Amino acid sequence: MPPLTDEVLYTPPPPRPLNYDSPRALKAFLDAQGLGMRKKFGQNFLINPEARKILLDALEIRPGDGVWEIGPGLGAMTWGLLERGAQVKAFEIDPGFIRVLTDFFGRHPRFCLVPGDVLKTWPHAGEERYMLGNLPYTIGSRLLGAFIEGNRFFTRMVVMLQRELVQRMGARPGSKDYSSFSVLCTSTYTVKPLKIVKGSSFYPVPHVDSQGLRLDLRTDVDPCSYPLGFRPLVRRLFASRRKTITHNLYNFVVSYILKGVGTSAEAGYITEEALERCGIPGNKRAEALGLEAFVALAAVLEDIKKITR
Ligand code: SAM
Repeated sequence: MPPLTDEVLYTPPPPRPLNYDSPRALKAFLDAQGLGMRKKFGQNFLINPEARKILLDALEIRPGDGVWEIGPGLGAMTWGLLERGAQVKAFEIDPGFIRVLTDFFGRHPRFCLVPGDVLKTWPHAGEERYMLGNLPYTIGSRLLGAFIEGNRFFTRMVVMLQRELVQRMGARPGSKDYSSFSVLCTSTYTVKPLKIVKGSSFYPVPHVDSQGLRLDLRTDVDPCSYPLGFRPLVRRLFASRRKTITHNLYNFVVSYILKGVGTSAEAGYITEEALERCGIPGNKRAEALGLEAFVALAAVLEDIKKITR
């Protein structure tokens, strides 16, 4: 990205290069370019201008803010971001779309393209504080999980995802949608579901409903301060959902604390000791535990691990 001089900041976006609201115009453009839509990349353009505005508004950026856009496609939201004064870093995998985006926005000083698979390119891509994406359904949860587990935190992320995934992310303890992903997300972000969007708002029409989602980095916790074993513990306790906490925790102790060395009596003792110290009933299932219980358990286990090593 070039330095943010006044000239860069006040460069207006190019004229809107395409009618992003019209499936017919999009199809004609793709045909003329010799391009097609690829299912394997989860390509469904958001053709509803209201839905795009909801996402862009929810990001609450000011001119000059740096935004990662994941999967810009032909640039419908890229253009909206440039119009709002953002410095855009766009991650796109499709070579045909990369050519089009370069043609549309490549000379704009607030636009930068990162070609390739975002799952591979993001670790070396910089520190921008905002993220926006009508995320390809093929990688949505994997990418968000990778950001959190890789300690790559954004001040705010606004994304479009499958409706059921949004419900899982914001689910409360005890509900059927509550999962390790819910704990992971709420440990780091305040999760705010936005509008549900019908399939007819996309081209081509997907088979599932979608929903917008806003994730604000929590200011009441330091996401880097969680005990080392917190995230692996959460995953392991939910690994066999129908098994008790004692059962899953025992397996975690064997693999993570004792690293396969040690007797089953030792593993059993550590499991019972940790549960007792945290006041957690081992006969319940992981879905009964709130975030604080997972954190407490991970902290006690770290403590025991230090002594055991
Ligand atoms: N932003 C556009 C819109 O809203 O109309 C397109 C969104 S479409 C759902 C998802 C986009 O992500 C496509 O452009 C697709 O090529 C791109 N994509 C899919 N997998 C990707 C990956 N692994 N890395 C980068 N981009 C990817």
